[in-house]
Amino acid sequence: MSPTYGNVFMVVAPSGAGKSSLVSALLKQDPSISLSISCTTRAPRPGEADGREYRFVSQDEFMRLRDQDALLEWAEVHGNYYGTPRDRIDEATRLGRDVLLEIDWQGARQVRQRFPSAIGIFILPPSIEELEARLKARGQDEPQVIARRLLAAGGEIAHAPECEYVIINQEFSVALLQLVQIVSAARLRFSSQAVRHAQLFSQLGISAPH
Ligand code: GDP
Ligand code: ADP
Ligand code: 5GP
Repeated sequence: MSPTYGNVFMVVAPSGAGKSSLVSALLKQDPSISLSISCTTRAPRPGEADGREYRFVSQDEFMRLRDQDALLEWAEVHGNYYGTPRDRIDEATRLGRDVLLEIDWQGARQVRQRFPSAIGIFILPPSIEELEARLKARGQDEPQVIARRLLAAGGEIAHAPECEYVIINQEFSVALLQLVQIVSAARLRFSSQAVRHAQLFSQLGISAPH
């Protein structure tokens, strides 16, 4: 792959931990990050719009996209299919833009195969009780859907060690600041800076690390 300084961020969390709220607040502060819009066979929640939170597709359409190899990764999560369209990721990485994916652990593993330096950020709730309270307070899922997601939470959390970073989303403003700091730290890595400031590095006689 040609050198690029675009980072691939993967935000992983059990449902209700706050990943969508945190990501949306991050992107408001930093619109230079390109958000991957997943395809899903899940029905839209009240207030969700096609092409904004997700591209909502039928099962047939999802399978067609998968078979055409249009998905970078896909997985079955809570009884629905979710997948990351390749086009936006490919475009962002080609242009050297940072890209962020909100995906489950199965998807994160697949993305790592394609982008080994992808940065995994796991969002933990402060407790299971608080996770349940947030899922209920969000008020967008049927009780049996909430029950299913709570049951799945332990399984998702078991994969937290696969991520480089962990944020405990207790106080929202603190968690958001931590997310901003992770993005900032990633941009300051030697490998990113060396590509972004290639001319300066060359003038200063800095060579690539071995
Ligand atoms: P949320 O967990 O409350 O945000 O509920 P969603 O229904 O939006 O997402 C359900 C699960 O699907 C979450 O674990 C997401 O991380 C995961 N997910 C969303 N988009 C993708 C995707 O493109 N690929 C994969 N693998 N997982 C996804
Ligand atoms: P996810 O995308 O991980 O399913 P959401 O971003 O939808 O989670 O958050 C779940 C619910 O919890 C939402 O109603 C959101 O407003 C709320 N929430 C998120 N972070 C916090 C926090 N730190 N404190 C209290 N409530 C929160
Ligand atoms: P929700 O239906 O609540 O929006 O999302 C449920 C779960 O699906 C979340 O944990 C979310 O991370 C995951 N998810 C959403 N989009 C994708 C995707 O494109 N790929 C994968 N693998 N998981 C996804």
